[in-house]
Amino acid sequence: MEELAQHCIDLLASRGVSIDDIADCARYLQSDYHVDLKKEELVESVLSVISKREAQFAIVTGIEMDKVAEQHKMDDKVLEAALLRDEPLFGVDEVLAYGICNLYGSIAMTNFGFIDKNKYGIIAKLNEAGKSTGVCNTFLDDIVGAIAASAASRFAHRWIKK
Ligand code: MG
Repeated sequence: MEELAQHCIDLLASRGVSIDDIADCARYLQSDYHVDLKKEELVESVLSVISKREAQFAIVTGIEMDKVAEQHKMDDKVLEAALLRDEPLFGVDEVLAYGICNLYGSIAMTNFGFIDKNKYGIIAKLNEAGKSTGVCNTFLDDIVGAIAASAASRFAHRWIKK
């Protein structure tokens, strides 16, 4: 495993997110098309998304923003407060996550919107946890949704090719 990819996997794990959790979200996104799909079949696609530099830096950046806000170490207290209350009109968390989806085309973008609205699995958990005091998952829930949406898109395209 390449060093930055491993760093991202470790960072995600430190925030309570496993590759398995993301693969399960990707499976959910494909479940209308492949009824018997197992999350294990999506792991390769999740790891492939995380192997891309642009995805890696989105992961590192998003998680760092959440952590610094959580530790009350931001210079800008207006920004810190917006992150801590997961301000609905903030929007930069989604924009950063689009950066990952952009690498995987329109299926990734529409899947991202879908799972952002219909929170599933680990994304629902992160969203809930972020509402309790002391935890900030403002960037992380979108990052995880974008990785899952991108992995689902990659899987769909490879399936079509078969
Ligand atoms: Mg968010």
